[in-house]
Amino acid sequence: MSPRTQITVAATAGFCPGVKTAIDKVLELAKNSKRTIYTLGPLIHNSQVIETLKETNIHAVNDVSEIKDKNAILVIRAHGIPPEAEQRLRARSIEVVDATCPLVKHVHKTIEKYAALGYHTVIVGDKDHAEVIGLMGYAQGRGIVISGPEEAASLPRLDKVNIVAQTTQEEDVFLAAVAAAREKVTELVVSNTICKPTKDRQKETVKLSKASDLVIVMGGKNSANTARLFQICEKLAPSAIHIEKEEELSLELLKGKKSVFITAGASTPTWMIEKALARTRELTIAKKSSIGERFSFIWTLAITSCAYTALAAVALTYVCMKLEGAPVSKKLLLLAGLFVLSLHLANRAEEKGAAAPDRAKKLLFIKFKSATRFAAVLAGVLAIALTATLGRRVFLPAAFFWGLGMLYPYKLPLGFEKFGNFPASKDILTALGWGFVCAYAPGIWRGSILYKSTHLAVIFAALLVFMRSVMFGVTHAHSDMIVGKENFYKAAGPAFTYLTLFAIFLFLEIILVLLKNMAWKPDLAAALFTGLFYYLALLLFFYFRKIPERITAETLIDSQFLILALSVWKG
Ligand code: SF4
Repeated sequence: MSPRTQITVAATAGFCPGVKTAIDKVLELAKNSKRTIYTLGPLIHNSQVIETLKETNIHAVNDVSEIKDKNAILVIRAHGIPPEAEQRLRARSIEVVDATCPLVKHVHKTIEKYAALGYHTVIVGDKDHAEVIGLMGYAQGRGIVISGPEEAASLPRLDKVNIVAQTTQEEDVFLAAVAAAREKVTELVVSNTICKPTKDRQKETVKLSKASDLVIVMGGKNSANTARLFQICEKLAPSAIHIEKEEELSLELLKGKKSVFITAGASTPTWMIEKALARTRELTIAKKSSIGERFSFIWTLAITSCAYTALAAVALTYVCMKLEGAPVSKKLLLLAGLFVLSLHLANRAEEKGAAAPDRAKKLLFIKFKSATRFAAVLAGVLAIALTATLGRRVFLPAAFFWGLGMLYPYKLPLGFEKFGNFPASKDILTALGWGFVCAYAPGIWRGSILYKSTHLAVIFAALLVFMRSVMFGVTHAHSDMIVGKENFYKAAGPAFTYLTLFAIFLFLEIILVLLKNMAWKPDLAAALFTGLFYYLALLLFFYFRKIPERITAETLIDSQFLILALSVWKG
């Protein structure tokens, strides 16, 4: 195989915003409620994801009559349904949650508006597709579905027509259908309702398919939008293949291919795309040595087990001690590592995701789940025992924060809301917990909590950890894991999240410049000022949607603390 094969993954590949929001909504419902969740039709056309959802007590039904459990929740998926069907559902004694994509709702409104003015509706789409069936419901009985220009040419003569597209329609097909319909209609209103994510995906597909030797389209064989994407690629690229699993890729297929483009339909999860990418790499470059493979697995385990995160906490504690001018205490470094390991491992064991678990997750959180939980509790008990040797003023708050962190994923007794129900609670609690153990504990221990340097270290540590936690949330959302409103990213939305992260970066840098100018530990302030630019680089990477896969992303994010520790080594 050529070692120079260039592999490009479509920036637009994977769940579209509508599908992603619907999945997040359903997963959050399942997470916060013991009730069974049903979706009217499969949430997405992807058998692997459907299987994973079943394990989370989320089931697909074709009709509401299949649901016997009165306590269940029924979710309308992103495609939407006709208004009469929705009214019928809402008349039943079952809770209905609407996850219709807002862009589909916009098409509903467009059709409704013109139908009320007496227009016929012509929908360019697939008449059996759930979205189109839903659209037809808004046409007041004057809807016609056509598949493209040929069927547009055989439309009857009509006075007033509003022509719309299924949101995932190919733009060329829609425009050709519009041109053909003009010949048959006196007054034609053109509503190009192909959604922006679809247009972006198509634009990128056209550009990169033309420039590639092979296009790999990843996604369910029963997914209409993936099939349509494949049709576009087939026309443009010298060769194209539609696969459902990475095992369908072979040496034979990739032989002699210098450029490979991997794309996917709107219902294909990111983790499947990542698997296709890994397999393509494996087949197109010299095979990894067994030592390389082993190292890669050990590293995945180190990240997944939060061992690297614990090391990051040790590094941050070292930075804080330097900031506080405190002597470096090995006991406090160990305390930070154990404390963070315990809480992060315990919470990670409770995480759920739409993604199929990888080998490391299977090992830690399925096969040896009890052992992992035990390790998390043991690390916590050791940490608290350590604090007991540091005095009451360290022990009591440490025990409080640890208890709070361990209870975090669970429902509280006496009807109290669980912590995870509060917006951004995960990031705020993580920042406070790390702020305490990495900066406050050293301050209290040496009896100097009133020193300005301790307060400065706490603010510095808490803000940095808040940024870290938010970026983890972004990474997890990108990897199709459950990201609820307990994450700042989910509660505040992408734009405000990035604005906040850039603002925190600027704030920290300004503080460091001021401190340097005030001649406060100028070498240390200068070292931290430079070290923080690593963070800026990471932020820009994330902002421009160059978010790597989970293990790389988590490694890069936690490495910032090690980089800061190295930069102040002599400060
Ligand atoms: S394809 Fe577009 S309209 Fe359809 S669910 Fe996705 S974002 Fe919404």
